Amino acid sequence: INKWKQGLERTRKATFGRLAALLGVSEIDDSTWEDLEALLLQSDLGVETTQEILQSLRQRVQREGLTKAGELKQALREELLKRLDTPPILDLDSHQPAVILVVGVNGSGKTTTIAKLAQWFRNQNKKVLLVAADTFRAAAVDQLQVWAERLNLPIVAGQPNADPGAVTFDGIQAALARKTDIVLIDTAGRLHTRYNLMEELKKVHRVAGKALPGAPHAVWLVLDATTGQNALQQARAFKEAVNVNGIILAKLDSSARGGMAFAIQSVLGIPILFVGLGETPSDLEIFDPEAFVQGILE
Ligand code: GDP
Repeated sequence: INKWKQGLERTRKATFGRLAALLGVSEIDDSTWEDLEALLLQSDLGVETTQEILQSLRQRVQREGLTKAGELKQALREELLKRLDTPPILDLDSHQPAVILVVGVNGSGKTTTIAKLAQWFRNQNKKVLLVAADTFRAAAVDQLQVWAERLNLPIVAGQPNADPGAVTFDGIQAALARKTDIVLIDTAGRLHTRYNLMEELKKVHRVAGKALPGAPHAVWLVLDATTGQNALQQARAFKEAVNVNGIILAKLDSSARGGMAFAIQSVLGIPILFVGLGETPSDLEIFDPEAFVQGILE
């Protein structure tokens, strides 16, 4: 819990903590509702979720005859919690190897997140292999190689400008030969106009299925928690291209916009699996709605 509390400090200070303070004292009156609405809107929840929560709260106040703002605070906590799904149990054990495609734009924290995931799986006694399939950016391959060395993990990396599909194919072959449990594939994330990132990702996705029928078994999107609504736009594009089935919210600790977790759930309908709470490989936590809501409110 402490880690969450610390990691969510910026979000708490920016908005939710003020909300909690607002509801900690007075009687409920018109200005309570106005302040509540203003603060919820500033909290990166999105307009729709804000209105839903306000409506729910108003109904509840009427139904249950609440008069103290403190009672409203408890109701708000429940409303927030209701809007966050507990991450599904990762069912990767039935595949050997389980192939996970990790996608996201450059700078989102993708490479660091792959290192964190590798460490997390290894702590569960899984054999992990990394695949550096962002061959366009030599720096991306280098960076993953540095992590592989530091964590003492095997890696399959393409030569500069090698075909990302071919590297993916080789990586999965190597994993089959070594009886690896988990393959983490780092993909390209550059967003510029004359190049079609989504087509490249679709191709990597297809090739993974050729190397091992059923692969990839998961596609996880890394989103930068500091970017707010922009990240939601990106997420939509990735979701259309490669059927994203889990989100990793990186840099939650350096973000004041943790409220976007609610918008991710309501707008995208993709579960948040993990959050990044720092820069080292151990700063990854399974998403815990209770700890999250407690961390932002108090
Ligand atoms: P990529 O370009 O998407 O692969 O991004 P990187 O993994 O290189 O990360 C970009 C920067 O964000 C680096 O300085 C990382 O240390 C930092 N970073 C990544 N994840 C987190 C996180 O959860 N918390 C914090 N504070 N920094 C992070």
